Amino acid sequence: MKRYDVAVIGAGVVGAALARALSATRASVVLIDAQSEAGFGTSKANSGIVHAGHHGDPATLKGALEWPGNQAWDALAAELGFAFRRIGELTVAFDDAERAHLDALEARGRAKGVPGLERWDAARVRREEPALSHDVDDALYAPTAGVVNPYEACYTLVENAVRNGVEAVFDAPVTDVEILDGGAAFALRAGARRIEARYVVNAAGLFGDALNVLAGAGGPTLRGRKGEEYLLDKRLQGTVRRLVFPVPGRASKGTLIIPTYDGTLMVGPTAHEVDDKEDVTTTAAGAEEVFAKVRRLAPGLQASDVIAQFAGVRAVAEDDDFHVGATDRPRWLQALGIQSPGLTAAPVLAERLVAELAAQGLALEPDPAFDPVLPPPVRFAAADAVVQEALVARDPAYARMVCRCELVTEGEIRDAIRRGARTLDGIKFRTRAGMGRCQGGFCTLRCMELLERDAGIPLPDVRKRGPASWVAIPRVDGAPGKGVAS
Ligand SMILES: Cc1cc2nc3c(=O)[nH]c(=O)nc-3n(C[C@H](O)[C@H](O)[C@H](O)COP(=O)(O)OP(=O)(O)OC[C@H]3O[C@@H](n4cnc5c(N)ncnc54)[C@H](O)[C@@H]3O)c2cc1C
Repeated sequence: MKRYDVAVIGAGVVGAALARALSATRASVVLIDAQSEAGFGTSKANSGIVHAGHHGDPATLKGALEWPGNQAWDALAAELGFAFRRIGELTVAFDDAERAHLDALEARGRAKGVPGLERWDAARVRREEPALSHDVDDALYAPTAGVVNPYEACYTLVENAVRNGVEAVFDAPVTDVEILDGGAAFALRAGARRIEARYVVNAAGLFGDALNVLAGAGGPTLRGRKGEEYLLDKRLQGTVRRLVFPVPGRASKGTLIIPTYDGTLMVGPTAHEVDDKEDVTTTAAGAEEVFAKVRRLAPGLQASDVIAQFAGVRAVAEDDDFHVGATDRPRWLQALGIQSPGLTAAPVLAERLVAELAAQGLALEPDPAFDPVLPPPVRFAAADAVVQEALVARDPAYARMVCRCELVTEGEIRDAIRRGARTLDGIKFRTRAGMGRCQGGFCTLRCMELLERDAGIPLPDVRKRGPASWVAIPRVDGAPGKGVAS
């Protein structure tokens, strides 16, 4: 049986960034995830903010890695072609007590070396962001804050890693760990497979503590802290142009206004401890809480404009910090307790893990064949008429419109499937098909048919996301046809 140099458990943004970093070396690497595609854990369900760098206390690991993490995203986005823009952020204050918070935040940012921080008075805030409450009387502006489509970052990291030799194994929950050769290697039971590796990195998010127990590796116990997010109609595009933060609370950075990369406004998240780490329900109470807080920031933003909502669960360790690197068990590494700003910090978390693997004896020679660049996908709607005409002449699939809200063609969906999409969400996150106002009412069946045609997945086996999220069931009357009950 093949014995890999490294098995990475978890294809969230941390595992994906690590797999990609390791793919630049000659090490043999397998990336394992319980779900059907990369990023389907916490990493797809967040605010998508590359934090400006000044929020976190540098005495904590999560605070210390925020600014170096921020700095890594320009190069990553340039190489992998995912959506990333530094749109800047405002933290707003309403009274003297909150102004004191801004003073502290500004001082922290300056001490961390975060450039470009400015104080804006009420008049400047009103001029730059007219939709914000007129009660805002001071703000700290940080131009270094950015937004990404977090799921896209995960997919592209994994796609690039795979093109550079990493093996990715999905639908493979790790349920057992065997210690081999007196601790010199491990055997993982991963779905139907048994995978051997000399080193393991546990980046399994919320469930990583259970894996550490299986490996006898110690480590933190993790709790879930849920955040609900609400996406608003595209007609509000441009109403607020920068990320808007209140002064932070104890458990989170607060409820924010987030202009996503694609221009849609999003508001959220909440921050509440949950007993069930898989509880990604949204609730009436959550919506009320979010909009009460958001109305204070921007009175015009209303719950009636919500077109979609989702929740993500942060993995929180007892000490509220990241746990990254060695564990009690040699060759079993961890990246656990990766709550916010875990997305921001992921590239430097990967660097730290690579350094720890080397420190524990793994030879990591650079691979001269490593290609850091991914070819960009076709975006038909964004292309000009000449390019569109050339695309259609080359391939008529680019002339067949599948998603009418977001103007996504059959050619783009087929390309997404070729590049790894295996679920409806995989298509949606890669192409935006199903992300518009009708939320897939029009294009879902067509996307399912394309998954059947191009990925060979029978229609009743097509899933929205995970194994339990089926959309159609086989016909029970035995009648011929597509095999789908209507
Ligand atoms: C509401 C919300 C908003 C946030 N906003 C931001 C933000 O704006 N900016 C920011 O920097 N951070 C933000 N975060 C934090 C960020 O999302 C996380 O820090 C980051 O996604 C953690 O990534 P991860 O790879 O550690 O975990 P995950 O993405 O959860 O990945 C872990 C993976 O492990 C897999 N797995 C689990 N158990 C097993 C097993 N037994 N076998 C195989 N695979 C397994 C899972 O399927 C999953 O894919 C936010 C978080 C939330 C919830």
